Amino acid sequence: MDCFAVRNSFESFNDNTLSGRARDELQRHLRTCESCSSEFYETLQFYDLLSEIRSARVSIVDCQREEGVAILRVSGDLDDNGVDSFRTALYHCRKNGYIKFVVDVTEVRFISYMGVGVLAERLFALKGLGGDLRLVGLNLYTERLLRMVGLSELIGGFEDEEDATEDWLGEDESNSAGFNSA
Ligand SMILES: [Zn+2]
Repeated sequence: MDCFAVRNSFESFNDNTLSGRARDELQRHLRTCESCSSEFYETLQFYDLLSEIRSARVSIVDCQREEGVAILRVSGDLDDNGVDSFRTALYHCRKNGYIKFVVDVTEVRFISYMGVGVLAERLFALKGLGGDLRLVGLNLYTERLLRMVGLSELIGGFEDEEDATEDWLGEDESNSAGFNSA
């Protein structure tokens, strides 16, 4: 096995689909080739990370009412699977009359293009009803992704929950409780 063949077999090794003989050859090569060996461990770490990301699901940690604002804390990844749970959570809050949402995505590492599509679609639907959808806690990656599709200005750019809800909470003059009271 040369270096090229060895490196091409990493994925099969990780999937456990490598034949016993190829496995032996791979291990023999790794003992003698330092460059393939370090590549091997880096690749395995990468596969680990990837499977961790794939297996994570969105969980709605919290959906609390705060003066007509629903605050959702989401963890996991807004990938094609996660976005379904996200949509369901929004739907349940909508059914209870909420049209203003702050979604804390501090614990969301990844948003897929489908996730972006759902965010955009929900944002415009809620705006049509006089509501809104705002994200707080974007990371470098998710911020850049939203900026690329032109959503960043509309949906992001808020520092925290307080910052995102500030102009909403003062709106309801008839509410004498005020948002500073416990
Ligand atoms: Zn090698």
